[in-house]
Amino acid sequence: MIDLHGAVALVTGGSRGIGRAVAARIVESGGRVAIVGRDGAAAANAAEELGGVDRAIGLQADVSQGQQVAAVVTETEKQLGPVDILVNNAGLARDGVVVRMSEEQWDTVLDVNLKGAFNTIKAVSRSMMKRRSGRIVNITSVVGLTGNRGQANYAASKAGLIGLTKSVAKELASRNILVNAVAPGFITTEMTDELPEATREALRDQIPLGRLGTPEDVAGVVVFLSSPLADYITGQVVVVDGGMVM
Ligand code: NAD
Repeated sequence: MIDLHGAVALVTGGSRGIGRAVAARIVESGGRVAIVGRDGAAAANAAEELGGVDRAIGLQADVSQGQQVAAVVTETEKQLGPVDILVNNAGLARDGVVVRMSEEQWDTVLDVNLKGAFNTIKAVSRSMMKRRSGRIVNITSVVGLTGNRGQANYAASKAGLIGLTKSVAKELASRNILVNAVAPGFITTEMTDELPEATREALRDQIPLGRLGTPEDVAGVVVFLSSPLADYITGQVVVVDGGMVM
């Protein structure tokens, strides 16, 4: 049983999908969570469903905006206490082949998926350094390892997150702050619901475990990496993909 009693977590993009499952799992393990999302009402609803202010709060911020991120970290500290666990989960895709990809498509994806994680890490790490303790888990993707046609922007952002993870892991290790990444394969969420059934069928054929993953499959690993069970793991990328990429 993973025990996160007393811990405060901040989960970006925690109103739905993988982030919501992570927030729920942290609360089940005894921790308290600030759910940060672009849509403040959705974040507040998700927090309410997890048991309200004693367990979770919902805050609005666009992670690509450094000042908004700094403000929600301050608010979390005020309402729940200093952040012990940061989960960088907010992300989006704007797919297209490179020759037809606009600069705006490129910038949006890099700004949210990669700069967003830089913004949150910067906002929480000084306090973690002072307290000589902290966990950071970045949600990357298997396409950050393999690349993917039509996803140059997304794959670059996710590969960038892996470089960010390893660099920050090295910078913060002496202060007992552990930084890891989780790389999901194909997980059933609103992000993948947009795929046609034929594509989903073809994907299943590439997965040795024979099914798409669930948000809970990912959440379990994130919570493990956030817990004392993972006290000697840092700078790693844990792939959660049913064996698709070996
Ligand atoms: P989702 O679209 O259901 O959830 C993403 C969340 O991020 C949403 O709540 C959204 O509002 C939030 N978000 C987006 N832009 C934001 C911004 N600028 N500021 C704050 N919040 C923002 O997607 P999901 O499938 O749950 O994905 C979660 C993470 O997992 C993403 O980083 C995604 O890239 C990654 N991932 C997903 C899969 C998959 O198959 N679903 C696979 C690999 C990696």
